[in-house]
Amino acid sequence: MSTAQSNYHPDEWAARVQLAAAYRIFDMLGWTEMIYNHITVRLPDSVTNGERQFLINPFGLHYSEVTASNLIKIDIQGNKLDKDNPWHVNPAGFTIHGTIHANVPGAHCVMHTHTTNGLAVACTQTGLAQNNFYSAQLDDMVAYHEFEGITVHAEEAPRLLASMGTKPLLILRNHGLLSHAATLPLAFVRLWTLQRACDVQVTQAPMGQYIPVSPAVARKTTGDALQFDARFGAGQDVFDAMVRKVDRIDSSYKN
Ligand SMILES: [Zn+2]
Repeated sequence: MSTAQSNYHPDEWAARVQLAAAYRIFDMLGWTEMIYNHITVRLPDSVTNGERQFLINPFGLHYSEVTASNLIKIDIQGNKLDKDNPWHVNPAGFTIHGTIHANVPGAHCVMHTHTTNGLAVACTQTGLAQNNFYSAQLDDMVAYHEFEGITVHAEEAPRLLASMGTKPLLILRNHGLLSHAATLPLAFVRLWTLQRACDVQVTQAPMGQYIPVSPAVARKTTGDALQFDARFGAGQDVFDAMVRKVDRIDSSYKN
């Protein structure tokens, strides 16, 4: 056991290592925004006795610099609880995440990106096109929220929640992509599928030349897409494979 690890409840350490690995996976995939953007998780009740506490990246570090022990523990308002951690939280950065963690049942993990292709689709009037293998797996899973500027104002929260409803994926118009789920691997595999759909859409021929997927086929494809299904790992096997790839490059996230 490392010195850092011995300072934490085993379940908190496991959550820290998993989240730090996720930051490194995002870096590996190019889903980074210099020192901005966040992936957050709620700590299990076994650690917090039911109190709502979360882990977030330290403000000022690139995703490639995030480690298990420099992740910051915060409360639902984004206040830092890790008194010994020298880093600080981006207070504006937790507004969206905190709103979803606090109000959406089962939102254990929230991920948000500004990838170029995700943002490009978020800027289109028509949003995600239903015309490819990936969008077909996301039938009825994607919601939209109108742009109101940088999401730092708490008064936007009710509108954001109303926009999202019960959908697990949100396209923030003119802004970026968001995913939440009851586990980090599931949030990841959903966001990955949406990202792939956006990548395909952005590189397609001009509007009108693609073959649409019919609503019936999209419904069937989403039903057949077992990667989100708990009986088939719900993204765990995908996430584990990506963690092994990160491990082969740089395993310092475990510190
Ligand atoms: Zn953003």
